[in-house]
Amino acid sequence: MIRRFIQYYRPYRELFCLDFSCAVAAAILELCFPLTVSYIVDKLVPTENWVLILIACTALVGVYIVNTGLKAVVNFWGEKLGMYIETDLRIELYDHLQKLSFRFFDNRKTGHLVSRISNDLLDVGNMAHYGPEHFFIAVATLLGAMVLMFQANWGLALVMSLLVAVLLGLNIYFTRAMTASRGRLFKTIGGFVSRLEDGIGGIRVVQSFANEEHQKKLFIADNHRFCTAKVEGFKHIAKNEAATYLLMSLLPVVALLGGSWFSIQGEMTNGDLFSFILLSNVMLAPIRMLAAFSVRFPNGLAGFKRFVELMDIEPEIKDAPDATAVTVVRGDICYEDVTFGYDRNQRVLKQINLCIRAGETVAFVGPSGAGKTTLCSLLPRFYEPDAGRITIDGTDIRSMTLHSLRRQIGVVQQEVFLFGGTIRENIQFGKLGATESEVWEAAKRAQLDTFICAQPDGLDTLIGERGVKLSGGQKQRLSIARMFLKNPPILILDEATSSLDTLTEAAIQQSLAELSKDRTTLIIAHRLATVRTADRIVVLTEQGISEQGSHEELLLRDGDYRRLHQAQAV
Ligand code: ADP
Ligand code: MG
Repeated sequence: MIRRFIQYYRPYRELFCLDFSCAVAAAILELCFPLTVSYIVDKLVPTENWVLILIACTALVGVYIVNTGLKAVVNFWGEKLGMYIETDLRIELYDHLQKLSFRFFDNRKTGHLVSRISNDLLDVGNMAHYGPEHFFIAVATLLGAMVLMFQANWGLALVMSLLVAVLLGLNIYFTRAMTASRGRLFKTIGGFVSRLEDGIGGIRVVQSFANEEHQKKLFIADNHRFCTAKVEGFKHIAKNEAATYLLMSLLPVVALLGGSWFSIQGEMTNGDLFSFILLSNVMLAPIRMLAAFSVRFPNGLAGFKRFVELMDIEPEIKDAPDATAVTVVRGDICYEDVTFGYDRNQRVLKQINLCIRAGETVAFVGPSGAGKTTLCSLLPRFYEPDAGRITIDGTDIRSMTLHSLRRQIGVVQQEVFLFGGTIRENIQFGKLGATESEVWEAAKRAQLDTFICAQPDGLDTLIGERGVKLSGGQKQRLSIARMFLKNPPILILDEATSSLDTLTEAAIQQSLAELSKDRTTLIIAHRLATVRTADRIVVLTEQGISEQGSHEELLLRDGDYRRLHQAQAV
């Protein structure tokens, strides 16, 4: 796991080396100060040579200035390095998620995935920010200080080491307790953020049910939980601060006390006494650093593990090694013995055989849940058949690259998903980089131009989150305009007009008819009136395709279609 993490440092090798060298230099310089002080006190002061003392002190200031610079570099470049790595991880994860198949997303909550990308990686970033450099500085400084102390007086050094060990242990203990409470805090944050999302995202439902009071109560409860968790965290912080402050203040006092005693015994020079006290001060910062590291490291590693878990999920549907990009597609489609189920034990489609000629318009009708949507979603390979195969122009779709296959197929659904931007951006989604005139042309063919012209901002009109400022019909027209731009040879219209009123539906049927001209079109429709003109109607039931033919042919038969038709005629 750690080895895999180190890989992410690779692109920034130079940056890391620079950062690390600065860290080493800073650790060494940190120890220079006590040594110089001891030298001045023991060697220079007795000579009463002012000039030398002045020079030594100036040198000391120089060392401090250099060290300040080094620390600034480590702090800034270290953070930068961490941020770069965090960003790389985030982009890689997003890129990977985009490749995963529908089935993966069917079983996940969007919110959780979003939080994986936005929050989880923060822990990893923290580990990378304060990772090896800080750890090294801390350990090197501590060890260096110890060595110097043992050289000066090993008896006192031993006492000091014990004290340092206790301090370190306590610090780690408290920091861990603090982090545990931070974990609980994060959970409560998650709770109240998702409540907020629900409450504000669903404000229209809340207000229409006049359930504001109820929502408020839920929110208050979440908030109290959050508040309690936060207060508990503060308690830990206060405890930790108090305990470490006390112990840390003791360190120099012990050094002073022990040093004075050894001094009086004549076993220690004044300079050593000074340097002992200063060294005990130098050790305080690394102790804090190590305590912080003892928490950041496991947290970061845990975050990285969760990252790796997601990264290691293979897309269920991906390009075959020898897949080729299809360019021109005529649009002959054949389902051959296609069997499929969302889970293995429950087949939705059983041995479907169906051929659709290029340019033909085929309508699928039948009871809800029969598998019409499923049948169509196998074509762009949103899901993979368990058995059988599907061909386009005689070529198995599994031998085409996913990208090129999906460029050939346009899907217009009942639920239009629009992005919260402008009309232009949403139409251009059909063909990124489409020119102004192309966008207008598409809008015109979708009969959206009069609406756009009536808006003060024209194409730049903001349509609100998911297009809330548009009517159902306008949303559907927008999605049709976007499809005109995409211009795919194969079209799937999945209940595209089912949620619209009959007048709007009739108007949009015209645009859809225009859209499906010269394209192989698969229409799924709930209202039979909208599919009468299809070249062929296929009746799909849970048992499979029960009958097919033109509207007139099917009406003559005493079959499912006639029964469906009669049921709707009433
Ligand atoms: P239709 O479009 O004919 O109404 P669908 O193709 O949407 O029917 O659904 C067929 C069956 O598959 C239904 O029983 C439905 O519950 C199930 N189903 C649809 N989508 C999924 C999915 N993403 N995961 C699991 N089961 C699904
Ligand atoms: Mg459906």
